[in-house]
Amino acid sequence: MSENHCAYCKSCSTMTREHLWPVSLHERLVRANNQDGSHFWLSRLRAEITSEPKTRDVCERCNNTVLSELDRYICFLFDRYFVRILDRHERVVFEFDYHFLKRWLLKTCYNSARVNSSRDLFVFEPLLPYIMGKDIKVGRSVLLFLQLSYPGEIPEDMLTDEAPKYRPVFFRPTANRVGHLLFRTYGIGQKLLRSVHLRSFTFYLAFFQTGENHAVLQDFTNVFLLSTRATALLRPSLSCVELECDGLDAWLSFADSRGEFVFSDSST
Ligand SMILES: [Zn+2]
Repeated sequence: MSENHCAYCKSCSTMTREHLWPVSLHERLVRANNQDGSHFWLSRLRAEITSEPKTRDVCERCNNTVLSELDRYICFLFDRYFVRILDRHERVVFEFDYHFLKRWLLKTCYNSARVNSSRDLFVFEPLLPYIMGKDIKVGRSVLLFLQLSYPGEIPEDMLTDEAPKYRPVFFRPTANRVGHLLFRTYGIGQKLLRSVHLRSFTFYLAFFQTGENHAVLQDFTNVFLLSTRATALLRPSLSCVELECDGLDAWLSFADSRGEFVFSDSST
């Protein structure tokens, strides 16, 4: 791909900067974290993920129309849901527009894959008509799951001098981040998923071949839901799902984020 061609519409025109995390979302995150007492001492722990990567391969038209519309939707969800860190076992009724949500998640993963030259970059190219809202069918080859993270205890040796003196100290999932999940289990083998963490909310995207047999997707869904805690499949026919915040320990998830987060059951 030429550097002068837009990564989304492939047109050759003036390129603009596309932030991995939209500015409007980043500002909301900063505001929310400034109200959080743990932000100061946590900043050292999370120093490596505070930089804000950008790409320069998106045309003005895509950036200011379709992609901005997706960003506005995720900001709406942030204000309504992601802004508040959930307690363990809290129950949440999450209302969503399936395609807006999935298109934004895919856009964010695609941006991240380009910034990092990730090995799964190739999976996004066939999905561009879906991300751009031009072909809903193309999106069927991606499954979307949701799991909620709860505050996790930070081991004593990881605490900085600025940490509170009371014990135990809990790590609250106050960041947004994007990464991978290497899912290994008996009967499925190994599959690389994308994960997008919007504070307490963790979304997983599982990619399949275009036109993949429905039974293959159903088998994967069954195994994934049985293997992960308190996880839901989001479907196009659903507008709302109820979940218990009992999925991931936010500390363990964060500590694993420097590598790939690997899920592996005991039989493999
Ligand atoms: Zn474009």
